[in-house]
Amino acid sequence: MKSRADKEPDQKKLAALVREILLELGEDPDREGLRKTPARVAKAMTYLTRGYRQSVKTVVNNAYFTSGTNHMVILKNIELYSLCEHHMLPFYGSCAIGYISTGKVLGVSKLARIMDMYARRFQIQERLTEQIADAVMKETGAEGVGVVIRAKHLCMMMRGVEKQNSEMVTSAVLGTFRSDERARAEFLSLVK
Ligand code: ZN
Repeated sequence: MKSRADKEPDQKKLAALVREILLELGEDPDREGLRKTPARVAKAMTYLTRGYRQSVKTVVNNAYFTSGTNHMVILKNIELYSLCEHHMLPFYGSCAIGYISTGKVLGVSKLARIMDMYARRFQIQERLTEQIADAVMKETGAEGVGVVIRAKHLCMMMRGVEKQNSEMVTSAVLGTFRSDERARAEFLSLVK
């Protein structure tokens, strides 16, 4: 089916689908506690996937500053919530984003917004990490960009292998963070 990601989801349609899921799972969607659930789930899922209806351009909104070159800018401990595309279950943790500016600096909150835009879609952690790094590289024209995500996946914790304490760590490094061992080591030690 063609992607309809740019359109606002039809709440009535989504709610009807959630009702079907409840029925098939053996529930009675008309009992009191569940009566409003399909509409609530539709609203929640729309919110949790709002990244499909956003673009880097709109979230960054031209919030650039000029600064001296060769500064390493790092934003870490950014709270991250996403949904795994394999099970539509949450994975959550923290993200660190760093880059070495060539003069064009992004407002710090914008780094978090770029992360959020990609996180609020169905994702796998590896791709999410790369998409954030690519977007920051493209937006800032940085010398180097690094992104590290540490996350726990409910699909692993609540089902499957049921490994409650495992954490997945992914990183993406671009530009000098890839080619220059010292820059990469500095970044990785700062985000530890
Ligand atoms: Zn999963």
